[in-house]
Amino acid sequence: MSKPDVVVIGAGQAGLSVSHELSAAGAEHVVLERGRVGETWRGRWDTFCLVTPNWTVRLPGGAYAGDDPDGFMPRDAIVTHLESYARSFNAPVRERVAVTALHPIDNGFVVSTSEGELRAKTVVATTGAYQKAHRPAAAASLPRGLYTVDAESYRNAAALPPGKVLVVGSGQTGCQIAEELFEAGRDVFLACGRAPWITRRLGGRDLLAWLFETPFFEQALRDLPSPQARLAANPQATGHGGGRDLHYRTLQRLGVHLVGHFIGADSTRLQFADDLAESVAFGDARYADICLLIRRTCESRGMAPPDLPPPPSAFNAAATESVDLAGFGAVIFTSGFRPDYRSWIHADDAFDDLGFPITQDGRSTVVPGLYFCGVHFLRKRKSSLLMGVGEDAAIVARSIAGAAAVTTA
Ligand SMILES: Cc1cc2nc3c(=O)[nH]c(=O)nc-3n(C[C@H](O)[C@H](O)[C@H](O)COP(=O)(O)OP(=O)(O)OC[C@H]3O[C@@H](n4cnc5c(N)ncnc54)[C@H](O)[C@@H]3O)c2cc1C
Repeated sequence: MSKPDVVVIGAGQAGLSVSHELSAAGAEHVVLERGRVGETWRGRWDTFCLVTPNWTVRLPGGAYAGDDPDGFMPRDAIVTHLESYARSFNAPVRERVAVTALHPIDNGFVVSTSEGELRAKTVVATTGAYQKAHRPAAAASLPRGLYTVDAESYRNAAALPPGKVLVVGSGQTGCQIAEELFEAGRDVFLACGRAPWITRRLGGRDLLAWLFETPFFEQALRDLPSPQARLAANPQATGHGGGRDLHYRTLQRLGVHLVGHFIGADSTRLQFADDLAESVAFGDARYADICLLIRRTCESRGMAPPDLPPPPSAFNAAATESVDLAGFGAVIFTSGFRPDYRSWIHADDAFDDLGFPITQDGRSTVVPGLYFCGVHFLRKRKSSLLMGVGEDAAIVARSIAGAAAVTTA
């Protein structure tokens, strides 16, 4: 392998955006990707589509330019978009090269890969906003014979063993998979947690258009009530059917059985907490927060706010706390993700208690020459999204190019 100055690890939207900005700055680099460009998107379930409209795809030099800006690209179209983005500036991607370890050394790094070792002065980890699927501790109590799968390995209803399905986790992914399974004729139980929701269309505009007007996506980590709030679910919604509401009330109306947090299983029964009403109340409170944010933003700009009705009262919060395991064919975990840097980056201090990198605008404040991009809330809420990663990529690339200029001078 050659000895590039800069190694970018991962060719998703974050790695490609950093590569685009490094190329623009004339910084020599290589992007190492363990799979193919857009590998994470390729692995999402068969009917996957964006929750954010196409117009929110604002990669630097790779904004969405198709004829359906208000649509929601399906999985394969997202991959095609990323592939043509990479081609558009000849991104120096080396596919099927996995980085297995990163060791900081004097004035650089040893990068261990599936193709051997290389040295680099600077490394940018763009290995994913959502890295390691998280399962609640109660998962360990499920009988060994019962089929379990994380959302990232779920493909479609037909690929699951027959029978009822328990979906654990009620963020965007859990709600979408529960709906899809129900529509495929499955009897579905959704173990619900605390997630915000919002009406998809307000005053004739998509909710993203409204949120975009507000400081919602500009919020920084310090604006959150606690570091743990970084792990909170995104507002429940779907891009399916051209974008529509999908939350506890729509799912209950459909016929999905809503239950409280999954707390464990014995050989015959699944157990759930008596907290469905609390979780729904939490979601309604966040709905009210978002409505208030939209209303205040409109007021400050002299705009007429859209109609923001209170949550519909129709909801039956009386949920069963115990269900017979007989007849269940599968359990799907959609209970979030955790960072996974410590397993391969040998710089323990570079990460906080939750495993997120400690950075200033993406530059590690602990390990010189180490950068991150695409991390959830790296700088702002939008940092990991197609709408926001470009801003961070430009800052990271400028910092790298600036540091190189200082070293050369
Ligand atoms: C279910 C789901 C739905 C989402 N929907 C939306 C949406 O509608 N709109 C939106 O804007 N965002 C959405 N996101 C958020 C975000 O856009 C995606 O998570 C996106 O994939 C993040 O891009 P990334 O480049 O940061 O990470 P990834 O896409 O995960 O890319 C990381 C790349 O690094 C590679 N890699 C990892 N480790 C190594 C290694 N050791 N060596 C070499 N290569 C490595 C991976 O193979 C991968 O290609 C969604 C996220 C999830 C989980």
